[in-house]
Amino acid sequence: MDHLSDVTILEEGASALEFLKEKAKDGFGQGDQNAFYVADLGDVVDKYYRFLRELPRVRPFYAVKCNDSKEVLQTLAILGTGFDCASKVEMDLVLSLGVPADYIVYANTCKQPCFIRHAAKHRVSKMTFDCESELFKLAENYPEAELILRIVASDIGSVSSLSKKFGAPLHKCEDLLKLAKILNLSVIGVSFHVGSLSKRPQAFSQAIADARLVFDLGRKFGYLMRLLDIGGGFPGDDDFQPGFEEFAIAINEALDQYFPSKEGVEIISEPGRYFVASAFTAALNIIGKKDENVTDILGKQDRKISYYLNDGIFGTFWPYELKYVKPKLLKDYHHSQKYFSSRLWGPCCTDRDLILEEVSLPELEMGDWIIFQNMGAYSISKPSTFNGFLPPTVYYTMSRDKFKKIQRHNSHYPTD
Ligand SMILES: *Cc1c(COP(=O)(O)O)cnc(C)c1O
Repeated sequence: MDHLSDVTILEEGASALEFLKEKAKDGFGQGDQNAFYVADLGDVVDKYYRFLRELPRVRPFYAVKCNDSKEVLQTLAILGTGFDCASKVEMDLVLSLGVPADYIVYANTCKQPCFIRHAAKHRVSKMTFDCESELFKLAENYPEAELILRIVASDIGSVSSLSKKFGAPLHKCEDLLKLAKILNLSVIGVSFHVGSLSKRPQAFSQAIADARLVFDLGRKFGYLMRLLDIGGGFPGDDDFQPGFEEFAIAINEALDQYFPSKEGVEIISEPGRYFVASAFTAALNIIGKKDENVTDILGKQDRKISYYLNDGIFGTFWPYELKYVKPKLLKDYHHSQKYFSSRLWGPCCTDRDLILEEVSLPELEMGDWIIFQNMGAYSISKPSTFNGFLPPTVYYTMSRDKFKKIQRHNSHYPTD
């Protein structure tokens, strides 16, 4: 297994935030102030132990799409987690870290046939399906695969409607299981995903109850149903309500009710943002400023200030998560300072590159930094180079303590 590369070890007493402040000073006044991130990999390590503590019956398979940086994947591989991959490139990335194929679930219900053959070649056998056409593809390209039937789960209140695109409705499951039998395929379990950044722990309870029905149906067809995959959707930001612990309570209760441990069903989960959101902080620089006079509803004149930042929607922000974005300032401001209605733009030449339309901030100057915490999920794994703006650099850090702690883990996967 690879050791962690390119990670700055923080000595006792130093924090990732202080490291960020130092980095921000580096570029000051030189016109060389690209947006950048600082990641605290120790936070990822903490999340891992918290997961094991709160969901003792569930093994995490980290969803690679959420943040595919090598340092995050290496950290999780050292800890011995599994991985959820959705493409050939993601599988190769994880396999290249020495992760055994058994620790990968190919959790994309719609797979390109050559990717299925690639999975077969590397014996990545666990994969999901939710419709007839996928079963025909699997029978042709990887008849020995171990199939997981993804069912629809309610995603009300979450930030992404996955159920519109993925998952079989319960009333279709019988036909799918029948067809898999005719095609001589083996079904080993059930999966679901309640939508990213779910607001409803009950969505897990309901989906686990539904999964039970499909398990019983599967057994009627003679399948050895042995795996339940409860997907992702947990928050990764500690200010988010309901918090991870509330989800864990609902899940543990439902598991004990519908999948009691004596039955021996293996339970896995595919958390993405949970592991990485809070570990990453972005620092964006003000590269432009504009003043506007506005009149409020009482007829009073005031200023509205627009700031232009050097990263935005086409870089690392996801448009549908902007309501959770909270800018913070690196400079100290007096409480007595006047606040102005402000707008934050990204750097691209389109009005779509708007980070926040309305936020109250003290007056800032060109060259000031604005930081955004909880930026590890669905940010650096998807930036474009639209308009020629390159993705921000990420500086990876870990405290000396955490570094020592995970070194002890180094051969976590069983060797054969
Ligand atoms: C995106 C995705 C995940 C991760 O979701 P989070 O909300 O980030 O936890 C897990 N499983 C599947 C199948 C996904 O598509």
